[in-house]
Amino acid sequence: MNAPIQSRYLQDTLPAGDVPVVIDIQGLNKWYGDYHALRDINLRVRQGDRIVLCGPSGSGKSSLIRCINQLETAQHGHIEILGANIVQTAPKAAPVLQDVGMVFQHFNLFPHLTVLDNCTLAPMSVRGLRRQGAQERACHFLDKVGMRAHLCKYPAQLSGGQQQRVAIARALCMEPKIILFDEPTAALDPEMVKEVLDVMVQLAESGVTMLCVTHEMGFARQVAERVLFMDEGSIVEDNEPELFFTLPRSDRARAFLQQILV
Ligand code: ADP
Ligand code: MG
Repeated sequence: MNAPIQSRYLQDTLPAGDVPVVIDIQGLNKWYGDYHALRDINLRVRQGDRIVLCGPSGSGKSSLIRCINQLETAQHGHIEILGANIVQTAPKAAPVLQDVGMVFQHFNLFPHLTVLDNCTLAPMSVRGLRRQGAQERACHFLDKVGMRAHLCKYPAQLSGGQQQRVAIARALCMEPKIILFDEPTAALDPEMVKEVLDVMVQLAESGVTMLCVTHEMGFARQVAERVLFMDEGSIVEDNEPELFFTLPRSDRARAFLQQILV
């Protein structure tokens, strides 16, 4: 397919053996009313890590991802993104969140904007790019995800797989240092899953930091260095993919794998 998707930030070279922590979560607890949705989450993600987060429905995966980019706020604990402390009382105010891209299960493209305008809006309004620069960048990333031929279409004129590829390009147009995915293929018809996974594999090869909620275990095996397994609001297991799939440590992970790997 295409050459790996490159992010400019990856050109920042790092002192050997000193890979920075880009997400540092300590003692995170979240409640919805009385319901304890995240329990004592500790997680450290280093630059360039490719992590797959899996677990049963309702185990807290989306809540965790959404706390990282402040779509939700947690009541207790500490989240540091790219060295900046995310202040729980001032959500969405942290400029560092511009460096965190998000791809949702239901694409969340702006329905009233064309593919091109979906991709240029945030770079122009948040990053301050001029229209021409934003359009050039959008064309570059839309090309990478195979959607350059659809610039003038509206989301409703695209298939689910095409919409999700546009959503990935839109995230990349902000040149994020971290990309969070929340079940990006779960809403797709089966024949469209591969085209989106192919783009994600390319992205993984570019070296960008990825934290991906998915049950696509082939993807996990192919690109992830770590698999996290959540259950009932806790990270129960944090393991290399092969070990996780062949020798899960916990009974809960074993039961989960038996259900999804049939
Ligand atoms: P997952 O993504 O693993 O399926 P979620 O993080 O979406 O899990 O949800 C974890 C638990 O928190 C579930 O029991 C869910 O019903 C509950 N929950 C999630 N969002 C809300 C909300 N906005 N209000 C109340 N409960 C919620
Ligand atoms: Mg979820």
